[in-house]
Amino acid sequence: MAEWTEQELRASVDAYLLMLTDELAGRAYSKTEVRKQLLAGALRNRSSGSIEYRMQNISSVLRGMKRPWIEGYKPARNVGEATAARIRRHIVELDQRAATDPTNALEGAVPLPERQMKPGNTPPQSPSEPALTLPPGGDRGEEGQRIFQLQAEVERDPKLRKEARRLNVQKYGQITCEACLFGHSDPAMFDVHHPTPLAIGVRTTHAEHLLVLCPTCHRRAHRKSKLDPFTLLELRDWVAAGRP
Ligand SMILES: [Zn+2]
Ligand SMILES: [Zn+2]
Repeated sequence: MAEWTEQELRASVDAYLLMLTDELAGRAYSKTEVRKQLLAGALRNRSSGSIEYRMQNISSVLRGMKRPWIEGYKPARNVGEATAARIRRHIVELDQRAATDPTNALEGAVPLPERQMKPGNTPPQSPSEPALTLPPGGDRGEEGQRIFQLQAEVERDPKLRKEARRLNVQKYGQITCEACLFGHSDPAMFDVHHPTPLAIGVRTTHAEHLLVLCPTCHRRAHRKSKLDPFTLLELRDWVAAGRP
């Protein structure tokens, strides 16, 4: 079988990351449907089996990058370093696209470019933080206030809070912090967090865009800056590093 082209790899990574976004947000998706679409399009020269294996390669690479992966695609063993490097490059490129495409900013769980977390020595709002995506002409201070208000409003909305908790229990069996996976039978011990401050101007928030967090992870999320809380991926990295 011929070597996979960059285009084929990119299509696979793209499809994978979209499914991962759905998975992390607790939305239903169909692996079979996605595979069918790939077989009809970018991967028409490949078999179902080889697409399945490619997805497992991607899980393996994501795991190596300490990022969440789709549980339904068990990480493949023995992914060659050259292939892994190519897959990694597509992941990083597609992350950047997600971060600059404003339609994706709604998706809370869309992987954002990895921010270098330097355990223990990153002061909040250091000058090395990436620039925020704000609408042209928007005044930073005023926008910050609006984002903060939107976040607080959404997090206080009892209907959304209840629905977010229900979705979380449905997914995990009992209410569980999505960052550190602490679970408990008492839902009152958890917070609901609005992770999408970049969705400025958008006032429709769905429960599936919200994150259930334990109070510690929630506090941490807001320790970065008002405009730009830590993302779920950053929180998970923080937890994986032993909460430095
Ligand atoms: Zn937690
Ligand atoms: Zn919050």
